[in-house]
Amino acid sequence: MDEYINELISDLKTYLEYLKGMGIVSLPTSGRKADEPGQSTMITLEEVRKELGDCKRCKLHRTRRTIVFGEGNEKATLMLVGEGPGYDEDVQGKPFVGKAGQLLTKILQSINLPREEVYIANIIKCRPPQNRNPETDEIQSCHPFLMKQIGVIQPKIICALGTFSAQTLLKTDTKITALRGKLFDLEGIKVIPTYHPAFLLRNPDKKREVWEDMKKIAELLGLGTSSI
Ligand code: SF4
Repeated sequence: MDEYINELISDLKTYLEYLKGMGIVSLPTSGRKADEPGQSTMITLEEVRKELGDCKRCKLHRTRRTIVFGEGNEKATLMLVGEGPGYDEDVQGKPFVGKAGQLLTKILQSINLPREEVYIANIIKCRPPQNRNPETDEIQSCHPFLMKQIGVIQPKIICALGTFSAQTLLKTDTKITALRGKLFDLEGIKVIPTYHPAFLLRNPDKKREVWEDMKKIAELLGLGTSSI
């Protein structure tokens, strides 16, 4: 029973964080209209970044060089969410700038989307030591800020890149091989998981599947395609 209540509280917290991220700072009470002036105030990415500050909410702050907040178009229709910063990202403070980033740019070009038009972020904003996998407590500490970013941007589609991204956003343990290419819902936003570009660099034979997933995204966004 306790476990059930804790889970319920945790879900409620996540939902309230999401609403806050959408700019809804108070809930309507009976007798008051939801659209009454002052009932909601839209926030910006800059404000979310300010709130994150010099974050020390998890142990990754001890080893990181830079917080990699995310970058791109605040009004993007497509948002890409990866796992976490690697060496190059930690040095430059930008997401997907290494070899995997170059491949991601190429993948986006294949659906005629310049990189500047999308928004790119990660599940965690600080590089784990030796690029190890992110740990549960780190993901949980960072997650509310990703949800706030999603709330501000309100993309039409989120492309979840790799296992950690897909499993965290969709709150599942299902493997990426079973999730990729399928369409899910996150509070009204479509989520399509696909393989992480770093995985693609090691397994170029999986390119075909990513291409199929990108074609699906292009179709939903009404874009043309060329090959990766
Ligand atoms: S990973 Fe996220 S929660 Fe942890 S220190 Fe960095 S910004 Fe803060």
